[in-house]
Amino acid sequence: MSTTDPTMQDPFVQAFPETQAFWQAAAKGVLLLPYCSACDRTHWHPRAFCPFCHADAIDWRPASGRGEVHTFSYIRHPTLPRVLAYVRLEEGVLLMSNVIDCEPQAISIGLPLEVAFRPTDQGRMAPVFRPRH
Ligand SMILES: [Zn+2]
Repeated sequence: MSTTDPTMQDPFVQAFPETQAFWQAAAKGVLLLPYCSACDRTHWHPRAFCPFCHADAIDWRPASGRGEVHTFSYIRHPTLPRVLAYVRLEEGVLLMSNVIDCEPQAISIGLPLEVAFRPTDQGRMAPVFRPRH
């Protein structure tokens, strides 16, 4: 752990150490998913123990970055309209995120998506998704 890594200075990341690897990879444009080597399953969200078998044998694996819209909602905020979606990744997990680069009317359940990264107000790079062609 480097003290010069800005990700590690982030109070949110410091508060949730089990997410450090995720945010460090996201800063480099890589989507990692927690994987339990005891039961051979991927899960979401990151945590210290596997939600299926309670082992602490958690590794990280790069995700394909591909998924589809599981469900979504258009938030008609006056200054920050956005599409909030649950994205079903190819690895099987559901991620809550935003869909970008797409008119809300063009979004439907099952729409193929690919990951992109966008800076948050706090400076972290967060995974978002856009239509995959
Ligand atoms: Zn497990």
